[in-house]
Amino acid sequence: MIILITGTPGVGKTTVSGLLAEKINAYLIDINKLVDEKHLYTGIDEEKGYKIVNLDDLFNELDHIVGEIDYLNEYILIEGHLSHLFEKSDLVIVLRANPDMLQGRMKTKGWNKPKIRENIEAEAIDICSYEAFEIHGDKVNEIDTSNVSPEEVVGLIIDVIKGDKKFPVGSVDFLEYLGKF
Ligand code: ADP
Repeated sequence: MIILITGTPGVGKTTVSGLLAEKINAYLIDINKLVDEKHLYTGIDEEKGYKIVNLDDLFNELDHIVGEIDYLNEYILIEGHLSHLFEKSDLVIVLRANPDMLQGRMKTKGWNKPKIRENIEAEAIDICSYEAFEIHGDKVNEIDTSNVSPEEVVGLIIDVIKGDKKFPVGSVDFLEYLGKF
């Protein structure tokens, strides 16, 4: 089973994916690490401090890795804010976080104001879920991490994997925060 874990930077993808991978014994692919290790970028946006990822190279690399794993019988977690752009999936989880809370988490990470604002606006208008839904349709679930622990988020994802719960796109709405920052 291929599970994509996506969401705005700071929502908790890395934290939750690490715990989840341990719990369900999954093969974990961290896209940020992969991009670094395999140099899957064309340059760096100095102003924002982002790597400009070569998406074709990234998808080729992911295809290659996934092709070597028996994913019909094993779990593969692909984690990163670009993961939902990969077309192969059985399930997509978009982690969400209330923009006020997200701002706090981003400040802790020491990000500058423009970077924080850009990401918070992306969260308010729900870019990841929108893009994910266009590619993966009903496989996409969105989970609000604002008032639950990472362990509880893992529990909710396991419920979704088992088919016991569903969190369709549209169940989390932070539009009221748009323009507030
Ligand atoms: P991302 O990989 O999405 O950029 P990280 O996992 O690196 O996010 O960072 C998220 C931060 O938010 C971590 O410091 C984590 O401890 C914190 N956090 C607080 N509550 C949660 C939660 N419910 N789920 C995930 N992360 C949380």
